[in-house]
Order: sequence, then structure tokens, then C-alpha cells
Amino acid sequence: MIVEKILINKNLLAKLLVLKIIISKVLNKILNLALPPVCPLCKEKVQDKTAFCSKCFPKIIFSKKPFCKSCSLQFESYVKHNSICLACIARPPAFNQAFAPLIYNNETRKPILALKHADQTQHAAMFAKIITARAPKSFRKVDLITPVPIHNKRLRKRLYNQAALIANSIAKTWQIPVKHNLITRRKYTPPLGNLTPRQRVLVLRSVFRCTKPESVHGKSILLIDDVMTSGLTAEFCARELKKANAKEILVLTIAKVALPRPNLPKSI
Ligand SMILES: [Zn+2]
Ligand SMILES: [Zn+2]
Repeated sequence: MIVEKILINKNLLAKLLVLKIIISKVLNKILNLALPPVCPLCKEKVQDKTAFCSKCFPKIIFSKKPFCKSCSLQFESYVKHNSICLACIARPPAFNQAFAPLIYNNETRKPILALKHADQTQHAAMFAKIITARAPKSFRKVDLITPVPIHNKRLRKRLYNQAALIANSIAKTWQIPVKHNLITRRKYTPPLGNLTPRQRVLVLRSVFRCTKPESVHGKSILLIDDVMTSGLTAEFCARELKKANAKEILVLTIAKVALPRPNLPKSI
């Protein structure tokens, strides 16, 4: 009897907690819509809700050519067009090509984290606009777009997947079908920010599964994520899509950490 009572109370508490999250997120959303658009960096008023202010815009570092055709790592010195970096030569990624218009630094981190963790969902359209304006033309020729999934536990807490919001916005601009849940995240993983590449491999290696292989077979697929750090999330998602016989996998992210892909053993 006492155990039952405790269980009922625990259930009720969990439901109240979810309700509290939903109410606070809805209020936040209404507030964001009601207030005039502001620069995502300095919070100065701006005309266009998908733009940085004129003072902050020069602080944003765009990735510049030449970069690796495969993983989009920016080369520091001159190389021939369509070159591939040493890491990609040594260990070609499962995806065919990746691109990120921005370099992940102090300035770009702030609005990306606000989109991810602070309900600033309006930033998704802003980043999608930057991506679609700068991505190579080949990225528009895909059959379908899909976002990197987040785990249901995280989705219940956040109520949105930031990669899915960006994917929707890109799909709308380029008029390409977007399919959610092509890939599922089977395990809840801790934030990967502080892990070494090898620890990331151990965490991510069996996390993703392609749930709709029939939708993937023979298709050219554009995978969307927020930031490419080690490239391992994209790598493991791409492997799943390849297993389902995808013809080609391209990866678009808002920003890329300016580091080469980790040199991992072939046995992973
Ligand atoms: Zn600003
Ligand atoms: Zn590369």
C-alpha cells in the first residue's frame, strides 16, 4: 500500500515536471514572438530576425576555400581545388562530402548553444539561411534530407530537435523532401563535448540505427546536424545509411571545429 502510494506520487511528480517544462517553453516562445528581433550575439535590435547586427557580423568567421572536399577541414595553405586532407586519405569517411559554412568559435558557439539548450529556436532559420547561401550546389541535388536524431529522453526535455528545425528550414528553401526518423538514436548518451575521440567512438558506435531502409535504398541523402566536432556522429549515422544501401551521403552542419578528423584505428 505504502509502496503503491509512493509510486503514484512519483508518477504524478514526473508528469508535473513535464508540464512545468512545457509551460515554461510555451511562455518563452510567446515572449520571443512578441519581442522585436535581436542580434543573437549582442541582443541589439535588428530588422531581420535571421541576421546578426552590423557590429557582430564581422566577428563571425566563415569557412574559406580551400577546404577538404571530403570533411570540409579548412587548409591553412594553398592546395589544388578538390583536394582531400591527410586524415580523409588515410581513413575515408563513410559520408561522401561534408560542408559547414562557419568555423566553431566563441562567437558562433553562443547562438548555437542558445538554439540547442535555451529555446532560441528562431536561430534555426538564421543558420539555415547561412547554410543554404553558402553550401556547394551539389548539396541541393539530393533526394531527401534527414536530421541527426536526438534521444527521446532528451526530446521530452527539450521538446524539439535543433537539427530537425534546421533540416525543415533547408528543405523548405531547396524544395527537397525531409524525412524525420530515418535514423533512430537507440541509447541515451551523455553530452560528448568533453570526451576524447576514442571515448566518443565507444559511446557512439552502437547508438544509431536506420529504421526505414526501404526509404534509403539507392537514395542520395543529406544529413543535417548542428556542429561537426570529430565528425563521428556523422560517421556513424552515415555508416547506418550506407548499410541500408544509400547511394550517397552528404553532411551539412552550421559550424565545424577547426581540427582534422581523429586518427582512429581501423577496427572500430
Ligand atoms: Zn550584435
Ligand atoms: Zn578531410
